[in-house]
Amino acid sequence: MTNNATKPKLFKGSDLNVNPSQICNQALSIVRRLSTKKFAAYLVGGAVRDLILKIEPKDFDIVTDATPTQIKKIFLSSKIIGRRFQIVHVQQDKKIFEVSTFQSKEMIEETSPVGNSKKIVQNTERFFDGRLSIIKEDAFRRDLSINALYYDPLEDKIIDFTDGVADLNKKHLRILGSPGNRFREDPVRILRVIRVSAKLGFTIPPKIKKQIKKKLNLLKDVSKARLFDEILKTFLLGYGLNALKVMKEFNGLNIFIYDNPSRIRSKNTAKLYDILLASTDLRVWQKKYVSPHFLFAVLLWPSLMEEISKVNNKKFTVRKTLEIASRKLFDKESLLVSIPKRYVFKILDMWRMHLQLLMPNPKSVDVILKHRSFRSAYDFILIREAVGEDLQNLGVWWTEIQNYVGIDHENGIHKKNLKKASYLLNTEFYN
Ligand code: ATP
Ligand code: MG
Repeated sequence: MTNNATKPKLFKGSDLNVNPSQICNQALSIVRRLSTKKFAAYLVGGAVRDLILKIEPKDFDIVTDATPTQIKKIFLSSKIIGRRFQIVHVQQDKKIFEVSTFQSKEMIEETSPVGNSKKIVQNTERFFDGRLSIIKEDAFRRDLSINALYYDPLEDKIIDFTDGVADLNKKHLRILGSPGNRFREDPVRILRVIRVSAKLGFTIPPKIKKQIKKKLNLLKDVSKARLFDEILKTFLLGYGLNALKVMKEFNGLNIFIYDNPSRIRSKNTAKLYDILLASTDLRVWQKKYVSPHFLFAVLLWPSLMEEISKVNNKKFTVRKTLEIASRKLFDKESLLVSIPKRYVFKILDMWRMHLQLLMPNPKSVDVILKHRSFRSAYDFILIREAVGEDLQNLGVWWTEIQNYVGIDHENGIHKKNLKKASYLLNTEFYN
């Protein structure tokens, strides 16, 4: 088995489409700086994988045998992050790069606070003298064979201990070690596999699928803040629709979207999510901004409708009903993921504004059009109509009204004879 290989496969980067010209200058300069200080430094992970596949990398991660403290000394604008696995955020021209130290027993001893007495082994030559075993150990601690490739842009060399290049050619997802154990060690790896499969279009092999099904529930034990970040990476990086399909296959939506346990998500909910993620992916590809609050505001909408129908007090205004229902929903949602407060406020603001758009009052149109939540509340009307809800053509109405800039809306635009906003909430639609 490849796991026992003592020697790596070596490739010329240029033979695999990888050239220094494809690496952003700042990442190259970090590698060069480390190298002039006699440290080994490589690009690693998703960037190498993506370049081989001719995909534009999302970011450039760097790994080195310099310890976090040494990295920090070399780069003035840098910060050590994390406790157990320290990485250094190095800032270059306003961009942040993750620079980490090889994860191997030797390096961990050298870098751990209690291991201070041990001297750092300076790498005076380049890696070949004695560094290979450290790189090998680092490689097998990574999640997938295709994520464990090291590229030295100064020598145009790719180091492959895990047969990652062969797996890339075969479109094969292979977890390093036993999938069950690796998911138990860190359940976030489940989301990482889903993400990479969605991004590259590689199918998840049956053995891994089986383990995902078994271990999916462990994601509930992951820190809720980390889970939130991972969900954003899964759905806001341009491959959200694919990721959603895979998540649904594993019944994974309840990990991060609160829903009444006895409810089976309806066809309309499925359609809402599909349209949301298709339009989100499109925006990413168009290099437009995508916002975490919009994602969650729409994902949580069917559950909000259920909470609203449970409030069921005719004396309350729609606005008051929304406040009560959303508070209840966020209480339940916070047991699953921790949505940062600033986003919770934005979600509430968007829902409130959405209500206002459902009952347009020509007197307040000017103010509404300038409101910070107008855009998202309006986009949501278009999405709901695309799903098939009858919102009395409010999408067209709000689209047109935006073109009448500077005119007197009160007199210039006829008042629409609308049904009540509560009716337009269609609380039953997503049942
Ligand atoms: P992306 O294109 O999304 O950046 P990536 O694979 O580079 O994908 P990162 O989160 O940037 O993902 O991580 C960099 C590398 O670190 C990974 O390629 C992988 O080798 C390793 N890694 C990250 N998270 C884990 C984990 N939970 N378990 C094992 N290895 C991990
Ligand atoms: Mg990366």
